[in-house]
Amino acid sequence: MTMQRESAWPMVSVAEAQAAIVAISSHPLGTETIRTHTAAGRVLAQTIHAPADMPAEPRSTVDGYAIRTGDADQPRQVVAELTAGDQQRLALGTGQAMRIMTGAPLPAGADAVVMVERTHETAGVLTYTGVVHPGESVLPVASDMAQGEEVLTAGTQISASDVGILANIGLRDVVVYRRPVVAVLSTGDEVYEYDEPLPYGGVRDSNRHALMAAIAAAGAEAISLGIAHDDPHHQRDTIVQGLARADVLITSGGVSMGTKDFIKPLLAELGTVHFGRIAFKPGKPTMCASVGEKLVFGLPGNPVSSLVSFEVFVRPALRRLQGDSTPERPHVPVQLATAIKPSPDRPEYQRAIVRWHEGRLVASTTGSQGSSRMLSMRAANALLQIDPGHDVLAAGSTVTAMLIGEVR
Ligand code: AMP
Ligand code: MG
Repeated sequence: MTMQRESAWPMVSVAEAQAAIVAISSHPLGTETIRTHTAAGRVLAQTIHAPADMPAEPRSTVDGYAIRTGDADQPRQVVAELTAGDQQRLALGTGQAMRIMTGAPLPAGADAVVMVERTHETAGVLTYTGVVHPGESVLPVASDMAQGEEVLTAGTQISASDVGILANIGLRDVVVYRRPVVAVLSTGDEVYEYDEPLPYGGVRDSNRHALMAAIAAAGAEAISLGIAHDDPHHQRDTIVQGLARADVLITSGGVSMGTKDFIKPLLAELGTVHFGRIAFKPGKPTMCASVGEKLVFGLPGNPVSSLVSFEVFVRPALRRLQGDSTPERPHVPVQLATAIKPSPDRPEYQRAIVRWHEGRLVASTTGSQGSSRMLSMRAANALLQIDPGHDVLAAGSTVTAMLIGEVR
């Protein structure tokens, strides 16, 4: 067999690759209805309006006494007690007061509550200090939420507080976007399951497990297709079977120039390859294809390349497929704590740890950026976008960081 000297696939830019992916991933897959209390982390597929005013009637915001501020001077006769949850609907007469607890609806006629700390009650007679203004310590009707007000927008990822809002308005079920099912296949004759004995020249399959974890963290559902040998028939069968079970298929390995790299020609045969190489480091051989409605990403075998390519190219697609209106990670300016040497010819996404330090975001490198060195991903919460060039970026320079984890 003769080895190819040059890739047949034209090199696209990062922006071109991202645009090609947007074009095939911008329609969410569909929706489903789930119970509200299970909805955290899902993307809302409906815009939600408040079904009613909240509160529906004025309520006390303190423990104290409901009064009529327009009444003549004190003292006032204490005629009843209203606690939160008690359902009596009373009316307050002239010269009267009612003991009232936080959250209890005001009696008809009352227009303010004087907090208990300012009051004195003896033998059913109330006195208090200072002036009480109309509306004081009263939660007005619709002040928390007005009927018809938009409370949550379609495309929002549902947070803990959003679950609270949905429960608050009494919504039992909620319509969310379906999670993409993503099948993951490792390739390589040298690749072994991590709990198997490792023979000479072998490498443990870290990619499939790391990618499955990253897929789950992106809100999608990962399924494993195991490890395929470097055999085109075996790989083709596994890919076809995987596509039948999933919306998206991700492979790792087998996309470079080696004599056993079959993924790109296989996908060209099965579907349409959108791009086969990206001017990008680490992960130049990353490819993307469509087979019918299904999306395929062929990521490189090197563990760092596959995970960084996932972050930059695949994750936003998985977010778009589940309807997220803000599918991209945040990009923020950061200051370099250490000097960085750019790649001479390709834009690079260097792994870094970004911290909040003395009022600014500061980035420290994770060390050697070798694409097989998984430790360069350890604790990394950012990918620094480093333009190609020959000049070292000095410590103190500002670069753009794509945040991939929490800033601690
Ligand atoms: P390839 O892209 O198939 O040429 O693989 C590039 C490098 O990544 C080789 O050194 C492989 O041994 C390694 N590699 C491939 N697949 C995996 C995997 N699933 N887990 C860890 N390393 C891998
Ligand atoms: Mg390989």
